[in-house]
Amino acid sequence: MLARILELFGETTGLKTNFHKSTVVPIQCNNINLSDVLSGLPASRTSFPLKYLGLPLSMNRLKRVDFQPWIDKVSAKLSTWSGKNLSAAGRLTLVNAVLTSQVTYLLLALKPPQRVLDFIDSKRKQFLWAGSERLTGGKCKVNWVCAARPKQYGGLGILHLGFFSRALRLRWLWQEAKLLNTQRITKDIPCNMLDRRLFAAATSVRVGDGKSSLFWESAWLRGTTPRDTFPLTYSISNGKNRSIHEALSNNRWIHDLHFNHNDFSTAHIHEYCQLWCEVNQLRLMHNTPDLIKWKFTMSGQYTTQSAYQAQFCGSTCMNFNSIIWRAWAPPKCKFFSWLAVQNRVWTADRLARRGWPHNPRCVLCASCPESGLHLFAECCFTRHIWADLSIWAAITEIHHSSWQPVDSVHQWWSNLATSAVRSVKGLRTLIILVSWTIWCERNSRIFEHKEKTVTQTIAMIKEQIRLWILGGAKHLARLV
Ligand SMILES: [Zn+2]
Repeated sequence: MLARILELFGETTGLKTNFHKSTVVPIQCNNINLSDVLSGLPASRTSFPLKYLGLPLSMNRLKRVDFQPWIDKVSAKLSTWSGKNLSAAGRLTLVNAVLTSQVTYLLLALKPPQRVLDFIDSKRKQFLWAGSERLTGGKCKVNWVCAARPKQYGGLGILHLGFFSRALRLRWLWQEAKLLNTQRITKDIPCNMLDRRLFAAATSVRVGDGKSSLFWESAWLRGTTPRDTFPLTYSISNGKNRSIHEALSNNRWIHDLHFNHNDFSTAHIHEYCQLWCEVNQLRLMHNTPDLIKWKFTMSGQYTTQSAYQAQFCGSTCMNFNSIIWRAWAPPKCKFFSWLAVQNRVWTADRLARRGWPHNPRCVLCASCPESGLHLFAECCFTRHIWADLSIWAAITEIHHSSWQPVDSVHQWWSNLATSAVRSVKGLRTLIILVSWTIWCERNSRIFEHKEKTVTQTIAMIKEQIRLWILGGAKHLARLV
């Protein structure tokens, strides 16, 4: 009979059921003889948990084992890559473009257990810092919390899975709020209380008929929620999930208040009176839907990117984006520069702090103790290079006699990268090029016991400048 119904459905709609791809999943059929009911239906029978549209589907709460295919998917990608043959910048691209994107679909629809996200994070972290090898403390040069931040806040722009997952889930709340005059779908949305609080803080509501906004949780009170503005009154309400329309009908919101509550005080009365005045000024407009606005975009519409960025509000902004990431340079040189400005390259002073083997003297000048600041800004070898380039390109600002005294690589780099020269973007490229060359020369002397003189190094830098210009460094061409 079921087969006949599906046939009729097919005749009506023009759609044909492919029984070879179909399965039957009984729900609450304990007292029914399914063999009779399903006789003649050539589809196979299965049970929960199962996979639907690529996602795990279960009658009960999903467990970690239900997410195992996604973990396997991420691990399978790693096994095909040879991490040791890729630079850190190459691995960063793969982490962002491939590993992170494996779980986007999953995160949009479900809220996986934190342990699943932690596991995927550990895989991403390991691949970024160690490639295919084992991750040790020495390889992990910047902690993961800092690396998984947007570039304007000093990170590598790797998506923070927890924040990204929340940003994707807020889409459900946005869609719910846009459902006009219909039943709310609150129970089925994979959002927790923190998601809802963030959503309320990120939106403002202009009340129309009050049917699609919540009285306590929606931000209709000059961009804030009554829950946040009047927390004491909220705490004694028995009707926390009412829409504005329901709450205002026959003053239901007042009847919901539990005035005999044990903690009831004069502060409650004060808040109640203030809220009463606010509600008294509210006029519902029939047949006019509530209007919700997203605060973090110009258009007032939700976007995942703005929801993600909003979770970094209050973070300290860093200038790495302008002085490094937006400059023209090969990605591996930019990655090195990002480490260097944070003093996270393994110079002698840092190796000494860890108690690891090192040569305390700078191998370039063989006289001073080696540190990041010494190597990139104070070493006579480095200063000789900059002085020569200053005369060659006729830029006085890059001569060390024009530099201010500084106490960190970041300060030196920022000062130099913001000098008033004819092409500041070109200068940023030049700083990356010179610092990278100095670092390579230092490593070559330590690990390969090969040495270039200052004159040879300067000649190599000039050759690199020529090649970088040919490669597309237009601003550098304008500078030199
Ligand atoms: Zn030196």
